[in-house]
Amino acid sequence: MAEEGQDCIFCQIANGQVPAKKVYEDASFMAVLDINPANPGHVLLLPKTHTSVYPQLSESDSSGAGMLCKKISLAMIQGLGVQGTTIFVANGGVAGQRAPHLIIHVIPRMQGDNLFQPHPVKPVDGMPTPADVPEGKKEDKGEDEGEEEKKDPPSDKQAAPAKEIDLDAIAEVLGG
Ligand SMILES: [Zn+2]
Repeated sequence: MAEEGQDCIFCQIANGQVPAKKVYEDASFMAVLDINPANPGHVLLLPKTHTSVYPQLSESDSSGAGMLCKKISLAMIQGLGVQGTTIFVANGGVAGQRAPHLIIHVIPRMQGDNLFQPHPVKPVDGMPTPADVPEGKKEDKGEDEGEEEKKDPPSDKQAAPAKEIDLDAIAEVLGG
């Protein structure tokens, strides 16, 4: 178990050894854009210390992760004009985890985006439901190929360290 995480691609991303489109960084976490996003602007929040599953996070990192999920969600909703976010963690293979490193997904959500719904959708006062949205917004997402995590490093050059969440980096993807 010595040097655990040495060969972990997500450790290398989280520590800047593999370039990625960074939207936030602090002493404990790196947030980057997913190279295979569920929706444009899909952010991966990665602990810099190799961690397999969420229960292994320290209490302080768990608190930090929660605060970052809140801030990233708020940035997406207020700054990018998306209608919601999904915050998603798969803990263990049985839950759908494919990477060896804890990944906290923050996914921008839009009406009719056809992404997963963990619960049956029921009407909530003041909130739109997918039933209100016409079909046909799948665009070029294609079928879910269910393929393994790509090993290719993200292609974008690494940006300077971000003190705050880099909305421009997310917006660039959403706008393009
Ligand atoms: Zn790792």
